[in-house]
Amino acid sequence: MRFARRMEFGPGPNVDLEREGVYARFAAGPRARRTLIPELCLDKTFHIVTFGCQMNVGDSDWLARALIARGWRQVDERDAWLFVVNTCSVRDKPEQKVYSELGRLLTHQRGKPGLTAAVGGCVAQQIGKGFFDRFPFVRLVFGSDGVAGAPDALDRLAEDPSARIALLDFLAAYPERQDVLTPVAAAPAFDADQGEPGAGPATQKGQAFVNIMQGCDNFCAYCIVPYTRGRQKSRQPEAVLAECRQRVEQGAREITLLGQNVNSYGLDPSARGGGAGVGFAGLLRQVAAIPGLLRLRFTTSHPKDIDPAVIRAFGELANLCPSLHLPLQAGSDAVLKRMGRKYDRARYLDIVRELRAARPELSLTTDLIVGFPGETEEDFAATLEMMERVRFESSFSFCYSDRPGVAAVRMTPKVEDAVSKARLLRLQSLQNSITKESLKSLEGHEAIVLLEAKSRRQDDGPSFWRGRDEAGRVVNLRLDDVAAAGPEEVGLELAGLLVRARIKEAKNHSLLGEKVGQPW
Ligand code: SAM
Ligand code: SF4
Repeated sequence: MRFARRMEFGPGPNVDLEREGVYARFAAGPRARRTLIPELCLDKTFHIVTFGCQMNVGDSDWLARALIARGWRQVDERDAWLFVVNTCSVRDKPEQKVYSELGRLLTHQRGKPGLTAAVGGCVAQQIGKGFFDRFPFVRLVFGSDGVAGAPDALDRLAEDPSARIALLDFLAAYPERQDVLTPVAAAPAFDADQGEPGAGPATQKGQAFVNIMQGCDNFCAYCIVPYTRGRQKSRQPEAVLAECRQRVEQGAREITLLGQNVNSYGLDPSARGGGAGVGFAGLLRQVAAIPGLLRLRFTTSHPKDIDPAVIRAFGELANLCPSLHLPLQAGSDAVLKRMGRKYDRARYLDIVRELRAARPELSLTTDLIVGFPGETEEDFAATLEMMERVRFESSFSFCYSDRPGVAAVRMTPKVEDAVSKARLLRLQSLQNSITKESLKSLEGHEAIVLLEAKSRRQDDGPSFWRGRDEAGRVVNLRLDDVAAAGPEEVGLELAGLLVRARIKEAKNHSLLGEKVGQPW
């Protein structure tokens, strides 16, 4: 019985595992292996838990598809032999969160002596092999450059029950990943952490996330990402385009291009060579031109790098969705300077003006931090004032938290927790009222909704569906007459279809629509 089906793919951490000594094999010997494998790896079943932003959701999605292509089965948590926990350390107490999740997953060990966990993402990069000591059932740790090698490593773990593998090296160039033909990871896929910027549900039928870069060079004073995800590495444009074309051929109607700062795509040294000369605006145009692609989005944009050609693209590319997540972080120039953001409020407002001139219906969303070291009441009032001026449709807002090694750790005075929390509540209450008003203004309008899945709300009934309009707003609508077949068949048929809807009612954070015509 052999489980590993080696698939060759570009240079990546998997290639050098043993040579670089990062693949530690604590072999129990060939005899042990022969007896253990059939017993412990009854089938290659896995379940992925994802914390964090869309980059993590995208990584988990690729990993799930790669494992499925190798014969693994994605199953419900209680049936899984392998858990992959994809972690995020951007805020709060991430290690504790991961430890408690691993502790919870360990409760499934009864009757499954070979239960295995893999920990990926930022916390894996930070804690590394420390996980092996603390949780012996963790047998793989991988950072963001290790994702490409994770399927190979997991196959090896299935072959050798005594192996432990660490994929934590940062690589010089974007680690290209194996092409995976499986279009969509089967449900249940992810438990994306609620409330993260851009984190949405798992990839849905008809939608695809495509990475265009990894890491970040900006070193904003509060942010751990450049330390946990490494320096910026742009992916070659040919590889991005090939993946986008493939995803459209497989049925994706919407693509989201992903990176920590997509606007600086192509500017890093690792992009020179095959990708020389293609910046983000050029890439956007080439992807938008793929026949059959109906919706194109991207995230995240840093205001300091936004190119006039990208702003113009909002007026010129019909399939570029009218939505942009443009993190402001703070409304006070003094705070923005200390954060190292390299724009001020005047520049931010200019960008907003230009964007709205190019695409008047553009929906803007943002990220905001309150309680950054030294933030005064006046600074905070400037953030509220910017929110009023820009009228973001929604925002992700956070209390500042010290992250190990970042510059802001040494900045004083720290804002007291109680003050930060009170500011956050005021900010969120203002946001709620702006969100409500802007959703209300859509009542009576028509929207085209990309259907994602059945509504999560039990009381909505079986024929209620959730989807997103062109700007990414959640629209719930009843599909009674289309839902003639049984629930499962309907689920398979409708996800990924578009339907025209009239907006009947604005809820606090979503819209209630009424179908107009048939889905297509
Ligand atoms: N690359 C994006 C940008 O430049 O805006 C953001 C990426 S970061 C992973 C996501 C968000 O987390 C940030 O926009 C910021 O609002 C928030 N964040 C990052 N570090 C934080 C910290 N130390 N405390 C609170 N919020 C933080
Ligand atoms: Fe973090 Fe700043 Fe890079 Fe965004 S741009 S990932 S906030 S360092």
